[in-house]
Amino acid sequence: MPDSQQPLDDKKDTKATTVKGYRVPLLRFQVNDVCCDGAAAVFGAGLNIRQIMVDAVVGVLDALYTPKTAPTNVRSITLILRPMDGVAYTTGSDIDNDHKEIHFSTHYIAGVHQRSDGAQDQEEILGVLRHEMVHCFQYNAWGTANGGLIEGIADWVRYKAGFIPPHWHAGTGDKWDDGYQNTGYFLLWLEQQYGEATVPRINEWMRSRQYSDDMWIDLFNEKPSVLFKRYKNTFEAGDEAQAAEPPVPTGCDAVKPSSPVVPKDDVPDDQSYVEVTKPRVETDDKAHDRTVSFFQISEMRLVSRDRLCKLTYDGTGSLKRFFHTFESLIEVLDPNMPDKERKLLLVTALRGTAVEQLDMLDPDNIMSYKAIKSAWALNSGVR
Ligand SMILES: [Zn+2]
Repeated sequence: MPDSQQPLDDKKDTKATTVKGYRVPLLRFQVNDVCCDGAAAVFGAGLNIRQIMVDAVVGVLDALYTPKTAPTNVRSITLILRPMDGVAYTTGSDIDNDHKEIHFSTHYIAGVHQRSDGAQDQEEILGVLRHEMVHCFQYNAWGTANGGLIEGIADWVRYKAGFIPPHWHAGTGDKWDDGYQNTGYFLLWLEQQYGEATVPRINEWMRSRQYSDDMWIDLFNEKPSVLFKRYKNTFEAGDEAQAAEPPVPTGCDAVKPSSPVVPKDDVPDDQSYVEVTKPRVETDDKAHDRTVSFFQISEMRLVSRDRLCKLTYDGTGSLKRFFHTFESLIEVLDPNMPDKERKLLLVTALRGTAVEQLDMLDPDNIMSYKAIKSAWALNSGVR
């Protein structure tokens, strides 16, 4: 019986509960349009939302922590199914960062459903949910962690849970921090070399330090590039490549689909994880790698866009910090964003006295973003 089927105390409607020794925060579920194709696919996949969310929380905590070491700061997690670009992303809510939101694209789910005739719905929904749930609980070295490592840990957890998309294979990636399954399989190999506490140790290292590659020396006495080369070498010698493909985890959480996974003939396997709003025309062998890096960027962009929408400045906090955050987010979203659009975003972020300050600086709305920023900084004595 899955842990989540153990009776939860319904009287504690809005309180955290405990499953398998782990504190499960308040879990919420929001569907923006119950009639859309993606929502229909979720409802039609025979998934018990309460069970899959609790299983995802407990599965992630069990992969990275023990009941004694698991973080307890997360107060709520809301799974939001809504139409959007990309696949999914996780962010702090606008209440505060301890309230997490997992945004999952109904366009993407509908695409998976259509391409696999429903056969991959369950596995893919559970896999993406597990990946995003990792972001709710993993440490990120106070936001300084290598992005490829963060995504690699999320896919390592997904792999360990048994939700393995058909296009995933060991040995892919050119660098240790190519992210997603590329780094995930590298972490699997590391685990085989250094023991099952390997990834939890990496995560723990990032709990209370700023990230640097020194982490690898501390934990494994090697540079990550050297470790990755050793990993890649296991794929060089013909038949050994097969041996290097890690075994499918046993005792995993994977719910096996009732019918075998048969992708439509005209669609390659790796389409199962690909949903693009602007189809990319790729002609060479690197097409798949670029698709992967496209999603890596895409997930970061989705998070940045979300944070930018929620970022406000009311004139009372540090102006310097506000501009620093504002520009860091734009850097991820679109480093070449025109001045005009930057100004528009800036104006929409202002509240209260900050609006009055801007009105005094630029009463006729003619200044550029760049000019506003330097004039404002000068006025408030910020260099
Ligand atoms: Zn991710």
